[in-house]
Amino acid sequence: MSDAAEARVLIVEDEEALAAGVARGLTDDGFEVVVVHDGLSGLERARQDDIDVVVLDIMLPGMNGYKVCSTLRDEGIGTPILMLTAKDGEYDEAEALDTGADDFLSKPFSYVVLVARIRALLRRSADGRGQPLVIGDLKLDPLSRTCWRGETRVELTTREYELLEALMRRPGQVLDKQDLLDKVWGEDFEGDPNVVEVYIGYLRKKLDRPFGRNDIRTVRGVGYRIGAEDRG
Ligand code: CA
Repeated sequence: MSDAAEARVLIVEDEEALAAGVARGLTDDGFEVVVVHDGLSGLERARQDDIDVVVLDIMLPGMNGYKVCSTLRDEGIGTPILMLTAKDGEYDEAEALDTGADDFLSKPFSYVVLVARIRALLRRSADGRGQPLVIGDLKLDPLSRTCWRGETRVELTTREYELLEALMRRPGQVLDKQDLLDKVWGEDFEGDPNVVEVYIGYLRKKLDRPFGRNDIRTVRGVGYRIGAEDRG
């Protein structure tokens, strides 16, 4: 059961009895489970990077599952998504995969199959997490925690590395200062929030300036971004 350890599953399902039943099973099987009952809450929650896999119903109040899924993908969020489709309807599997879902399961489904699918998605994404992050000629290798600008290896401190990784995992998106503080310094951090600016400065001094680049951008009044601006 090692692949279940600490994995956090978000269930977005408006049929509360079904959601509760699945949540109970997953909890017994060693997963951490978060349940929400409408599309907007699902979107909101899935944006947090503590979620390892999303089980997403299609017919939901607020925002349907297709829209939740495509919005997440448009935002560059690659968390694996297992979509629950209904066999009988106008909603089908092809459309689920089209919107960026990784897998689908049609209702009614067996719990055992659901867990097997979740585990498969977690294994796949565990493999993916070790992949190098690349933006132009800037490369970060999560396995060795090394950073390269072109052929040049750049030494980073732990904080610098973690800040850069947080930005590079969301290319083209603006991360606000609080978000970065929570991710890199931890939610309990009580020091000066300007520490983020200071470390952004360190990263620029190591990664941008010596190479004549300007990849790490300040978005005034909002936060920081790495890479070209996201569309939209
Ligand atoms: Ca539903």
